[in-house]
Amino acid sequence: MIKAIVGANWGDEGKGKLTDVFAHESDVIVRFQGGNNAGHTIINDYGKFALHMLPSGVFYDHTVNVIGNGVALNIPSFISELRELEEKGIKPKLVVSDRAQIVMSYHVRFDELEEARLGKAQFGSTKSGIAPFYSDKYAKTGFQVSELFNDAWLDSKIDRIIDQKNALMVHLYNQAPLTKEAILRELHEYRDLIKPYVVDVFNLLDDMQKQGKTILLEGQLGALRDPDFGIYPYSTSSTTLAYYGSIGAGLPKAIDEVWAVTKAYSSCVGSGPFVAEIFGEEADQLRRLGGDAGEFGATTGRPRRVGYFDAVATRYGCKVQGATHVALTNIDVLSYLDEINVVTGYEYEGVITQDFGAVSVLEKSTPVIKSFAGWNVDISDITDYDALPENCKAYIDALEQLIETPIALVSNGPKRSQIMNRR
Ligand code: GDP
Repeated sequence: MIKAIVGANWGDEGKGKLTDVFAHESDVIVRFQGGNNAGHTIINDYGKFALHMLPSGVFYDHTVNVIGNGVALNIPSFISELRELEEKGIKPKLVVSDRAQIVMSYHVRFDELEEARLGKAQFGSTKSGIAPFYSDKYAKTGFQVSELFNDAWLDSKIDRIIDQKNALMVHLYNQAPLTKEAILRELHEYRDLIKPYVVDVFNLLDDMQKQGKTILLEGQLGALRDPDFGIYPYSTSSTTLAYYGSIGAGLPKAIDEVWAVTKAYSSCVGSGPFVAEIFGEEADQLRRLGGDAGEFGATTGRPRRVGYFDAVATRYGCKVQGATHVALTNIDVLSYLDEINVVTGYEYEGVITQDFGAVSVLEKSTPVIKSFAGWNVDISDITDYDALPENCKAYIDALEQLIETPIALVSNGPKRSQIMNRR
């Protein structure tokens, strides 16, 4: 059984919590794309954790946690998160694909320098080196984990790439050049740190599947950050879609269940069009009350932009994810509202549409809003879906109709236990 957990929106939908919940009944959890440029917040018996590089199954003894070939592997970040867990007595089973590629310190540096160069026109990168990393991967100038163990190969590869890197470093960014010695030293450090975790993930997952194990693919960011189907260029640099998941994991097989996660309202970190966005005191209140401790980025601490539930974006997000199920999170957050607004359409040049169009159209679109009655009671202790207030269930029914995908799970708090089966 292969399941994927992915975001229907701009990221931060609560995928980490759902992965942690599903991990209970899974054997393998695999990260298949992205790097340490986003964070999953997980609250469990050990405390509160913001995971950036490690799969969200690391808190269970019975799961194997895998960094797949599609991931941008930041080795210092991997090791420091692992040490933090070990200090708390958690000893996860972790493996890293020999085909994953490595984020180099110069990728991070180039990311910072480019954002600084762009100034006001910057994309709001988390400056984790992800765009320079994926550029190198596809330009065939990146380093694969398997290459770390071949010194002669590394030597000649550095010779091949260093002039090109330094042309940018020196002439575009006015910085000191990279040296071969420093790059080699960094690669050797990474080799020694990562060696105990490196395996042939392709064969491992093939075996696991033959044995009938449940494999969970854990997505990072969301559908609308996908480079093809998202709000390019305000997108990330790796595919955030479930159907890439099996490739990026190292398990090219059909996925049995695709779970798209979406919040009961919208949030978005970074630049780009966000039609459902709200501002001022209305936004501040939602931002303060959202998530487990307000809507602030798990990686950057940046205040997230917030807005009404966006049915146009979410329906599109579920479709491009090929979602079979939806998990709706953060429903408890809306309990303070008398009236709850939902974006049901976009208006562009006087025409109302249900389509999530190109960025140039989105930037000039305004939301069409429908209001629903609120419920005004704390629902965070409810464990049985039927016991939710009628208005809350009516709100969820309406969202389901609008997004055209079944909402199967509803999360009413950040803890593992705060989740309800809807059907
Ligand atoms: P991810 O990257 O998709 O895993 O999302 P994040 O972890 O960045 O953001 C989701 C936020 O919502 C985190 O602060 C979670 O602890 C929190 N969270 C998840 N589900 C719920 C929920 O149902 N209710 C509340 N109040 N917070 C939730």
